[in-house]
Amino acid sequence: MTIPFIDLKTQYQALESNINERICRVLAHGQYILGPEVRELEERLEAYTGSKHCITVASGTDALLISLMALGIRSGDEVITTPFTFVATAEVIVLLGATPVFVDIEDDTCNMDASLIEKAITPRTKAIMPVSLYGQPANMDEINAIAARHGNIPVIEDAAQSFGATYKGKKSCNLSTIGCTSFFPSKPLGCYGDGGSIFTNDDAIAKACREIRVHGQSQRYVHTRVGVGGRMDTLQCAIVLAKLERFDWEVQQRQKNGARYNELLDQAGIRRVQQRPNRTSVFAQYTIFVENREAIQAKLKDAGIPTAVHYPVPLNEQPAYKHLCCFDFMSISMQNAKWVLSLPMGPDLKESGQNAVVRVLVEGHGS
Ligand SMILES: *Cc1c(COP(=O)(O)O)cnc(C)c1O
Repeated sequence: MTIPFIDLKTQYQALESNINERICRVLAHGQYILGPEVRELEERLEAYTGSKHCITVASGTDALLISLMALGIRSGDEVITTPFTFVATAEVIVLLGATPVFVDIEDDTCNMDASLIEKAITPRTKAIMPVSLYGQPANMDEINAIAARHGNIPVIEDAAQSFGATYKGKKSCNLSTIGCTSFFPSKPLGCYGDGGSIFTNDDAIAKACREIRVHGQSQRYVHTRVGVGGRMDTLQCAIVLAKLERFDWEVQQRQKNGARYNELLDQAGIRRVQQRPNRTSVFAQYTIFVENREAIQAKLKDAGIPTAVHYPVPLNEQPAYKHLCCFDFMSISMQNAKWVLSLPMGPDLKESGQNAVVRVLVEGHGS
């Protein structure tokens, strides 16, 4: 038996006629850039998240970059974030000449440890950027409260992995000043290329993001600010619209599969990422902690089970970043980077597949 790490083929088969029809409609009207599907998707996602504004952009990375630009982040500024994330989170800060200030993570969720934020704040702190890692929202209430106490520092949720998740009943992406997500194919809501989206309830920030997305243009050929070429293609928006048809079901399946893994692994005594009460995860990744990672990965591979490591090297250790960032002891990030292992996950993962994964894990555990 071979189990896909993320099963996009079964998803396409289930949605084939809807996706093909949506694509053909774009080919027929020919408005490939900012066509009607772009605004249609934005409206659907505004309704889904409850956020006043959705601005689609070319990628999750562009969503983060454009958000920081809209806040006016520049050289000399500091942005507090976590080193235990995909590189894009810190990359966009460095691209603007600002400094990522890292705080360590909680050992059992791998999300930013909110209790460490306050002592990282300086007069130069211009934003706090928590990451809702593996699909579970970070401690947004605590983070928002700290930001409010220190002169209303804007909070940007890097929700690239958590679209569809909730925090106290509210949707991820609508939990702070700005929320950013990604439609990279393997994310919980993916397109067939690159895409992403910015969410905010602030009219001025939304206007700035819309302009920055199109080269800082306020009217045709009037560039009132410096921007980027950061639009999401009409075709990619059409694909996400088609995928929304079964997205609620997919979130349910992800949660069902996540709960099943939890139960099987707890029975087997294998350590896993924990979920906090009052939050739901969309399990962008299902991640466990193993001390003999290489041996376990090899055993799983031999059994036809692919795995991945998110992430093997924290950003404070990355060659291009370590001298550009500010941090002290990132001991939990360093430790978890050695132990984390992500298992096959997705809405179409079968019970039999999960059983096979856990069987091999149990055999390899302690070996
Ligand atoms: C995927 C991801 C991004 C970047 O999204 P892209 O669409 O690939 O540019 C940023 N942050 C996190 C945490 C991610 O997982």
